[in-house]
Amino acid sequence: MVIQSLLPPIAVPETGLIQFIFQNTRKTPDNRKLFIDAFTGESLTYGQLKDSILCFAATLQDKFNFQRGDVVAIYSPNQMDYSVPLLGTVAAGGAVSPANPAYTSSELAYQLQMTSAKILIAHETNVEIAVKAADMVGLSRSRIFVFGKNQVQGIDPWFQVFMGERRATLISLTAQEAKETVVYLCFSSGTTGKSKGVMTTHANITANILQYEGSEGASINGDKDRMLGVLPFFHIFGLSLLIHIAIYLGTPVYVMSRFDLVKFCETIQKEKITFSALVPPIVLLLAKDPVVGNYDLSSLNLVICGAAPLSAELSQQTRKRLPTTIIKQAYGLTETSPFASVERTDDVVDGSIGFLLSSMSIKIVDDDGVELPLGQRGELWLKGPNIMKGYINNPKATAECIDKEGYFHSGDIATQDHDGRLYIVDRKKELIKYKGFQVPPAELEGILLTSPIVTDCAVIGLYDASQATELPRGYITLAANVPATEETAEIIKKFVADKVVYYKQLRSIVFIDEIPKSPSGKVLRRVLRDAAAEEQVSQ
Ligand code: AMP
Repeated sequence: MVIQSLLPPIAVPETGLIQFIFQNTRKTPDNRKLFIDAFTGESLTYGQLKDSILCFAATLQDKFNFQRGDVVAIYSPNQMDYSVPLLGTVAAGGAVSPANPAYTSSELAYQLQMTSAKILIAHETNVEIAVKAADMVGLSRSRIFVFGKNQVQGIDPWFQVFMGERRATLISLTAQEAKETVVYLCFSSGTTGKSKGVMTTHANITANILQYEGSEGASINGDKDRMLGVLPFFHIFGLSLLIHIAIYLGTPVYVMSRFDLVKFCETIQKEKITFSALVPPIVLLLAKDPVVGNYDLSSLNLVICGAAPLSAELSQQTRKRLPTTIIKQAYGLTETSPFASVERTDDVVDGSIGFLLSSMSIKIVDDDGVELPLGQRGELWLKGPNIMKGYINNPKATAECIDKEGYFHSGDIATQDHDGRLYIVDRKKELIKYKGFQVPPAELEGILLTSPIVTDCAVIGLYDASQATELPRGYITLAANVPATEETAEIIKKFVADKVVYYKQLRSIVFIDEIPKSPSGKVLRRVLRDAAAEEQVSQ
């Protein structure tokens, strides 16, 4: 059964992203502070932002011979002015690949290589790693810049180099070009394998803004609301909500460059924050951490939680602590730009991811791709104007996840109730999510297999309710004569930890004689997950 959205369809905008988000339907005044640094109070107004974007775009064209389709990589924690290089690149007809600021040099080099980035903008805390990664892929140091006003380790601040006299003329796109021109290359492992660059187009993003607005927009008022920008801008959830949607609605965002619970609570209290998008581990802190009790968080009307499952129990516990706050879920993927469903604000059912957004249709199917009747659980397939164009330079992976009818196979197991509400009940794909961040098992397995003491391995995620997240666990078959001891486990953990960002580290290791595999050699992760679940129960 094909299930259509219950909401009225949208007309996909026929303009580029920049024209669309700055069309100013909400009459945002130029002097409104739009991005405010929650730590320093520094800010960027709506008018300054518009102007700086055109300035950045002009310099890209004049000094760097930047062409349509060229890529800028941004490797930084959230910054008050993150949106300037981001949208300046888009205004010049280019695409941005935002990278996790905690990446190691080899992880960043991989992303730079996959996207053929021409310019890299880093942060003072990770310049050294940025330079190392750029060296690895042959990107000249003269094309690396840094956030802030000061030179760091010989690298110039972008602010100094890019804020010149000329303003670029916005590149205009036809409707067809808006559908085809890539604007972002965020990274996702999809249902299997290593991380891939997701080609998100202008039309994907503009359609998704309208889809989100259709479900939610009326409840956000640019004149009165204030958002807390704690989700990372490099992830499509933060990028979309805290940059595009915030600009489109004219809603101020208090930007946090790092998460700090005290600062988080202080900012909500002081700035009377009304709205925040969060991930489950932060919701857990709101429910449980004693610090929260020291603050008046009553201005916070709405928390929208996504990127990983939020249990009904945790929603209920949090609501007890914050009785004036509506806590609800949204669901989506990097590949769906990102929002696919949002729960209704006026009628929240805990545990549900809400209703399908406008102009989308879904199928819930069994392992053979056969559509299931309403109420049964199966893999969620999604179709709509927000489905990515594909994975960059990887037509095979694209064809494996977007079928001929245009349905994107999410790898998530879902069910729908009679009202049309959706629930994510399991995950079929390999992906592990640590606090909302992607941990692709294939990447860790690839690293483990380079260790001389490992002969075979498999990595799965185990849910830990005390942290409201999955934790990566490695199952290892050891080389002959290597003892299966605690010490060996620590050596293996360190071997991986030296090569990956903190959230991909293995949190536990289990030694096993043989990794369970199908006759075709595919790791049977389900067998490992079931065994681990039993072991947790019997503990
Ligand atoms: P990403 O591309 O990093 O946004 O990851 C997308 C994946 O995160 C989805 O395929 C789901 O497995 C998971 N996810 C996102 N939002 C939710 C949610 N509200 N509930 C359960 N899982 C979610």
